[in-house]
Amino acid sequence: MFEKTGIPSKEMIMEKFPSIDRINKGPVAVVECYKEIPCNPCQTACKFDAIKVGEDINNIPALNSDNCTGCAICLSKCPGLAIMVVDGSKSETTVQIKIPYEFLPLPNAGDIVKGLDREGKYIADVKVINVLNPKSFDRTPIITLEADREFLYDIRNIKVVS
Ligand code: SF4
Ligand code: SF4
Repeated sequence: MFEKTGIPSKEMIMEKFPSIDRINKGPVAVVECYKEIPCNPCQTACKFDAIKVGEDINNIPALNSDNCTGCAICLSKCPGLAIMVVDGSKSETTVQIKIPYEFLPLPNAGDIVKGLDREGKYIADVKVINVLNPKSFDRTPIITLEADREFLYDIRNIKVVS
């Protein structure tokens, strides 16, 4: 399916997620880069040595979740919008998910928006916690969402309904 549609299977997605214990400790990146491509801005952007592509620029990036602070700087630097940050430390019932979002209109903090999966299918309503769009993000804003825990592995995008 992935080769035809570019949509990863559940197993592929789960392999990219850090353990739930790590997620519950605090924010951490999920690097959903599935193909060998000549690309490494994620490695360059990370000041904590948490993402390694290595000497061969075609390598698939590897995350060292112990080093990752969840700072989310790499999200706006990845041309493939392949990275998000998840945080299970805030609540036992919800998780926070930071995603890069390049559509307009941008949502506002406090908005309820449609949470979508990797195929663009509606999963559940989610709350916008924060919208960051400084010049240094070069028109790739970062949206922080709050979602029910059961959707941790599913929510990957949003639709803003005006
Ligand atoms: S979230 Fe921050 S610390 Fe983690 S991999 Fe990205 S840039 Fe590095
Ligand atoms: S910058 Fe994004 S697309 Fe490029 S290697 Fe890193 S995760 Fe993959």
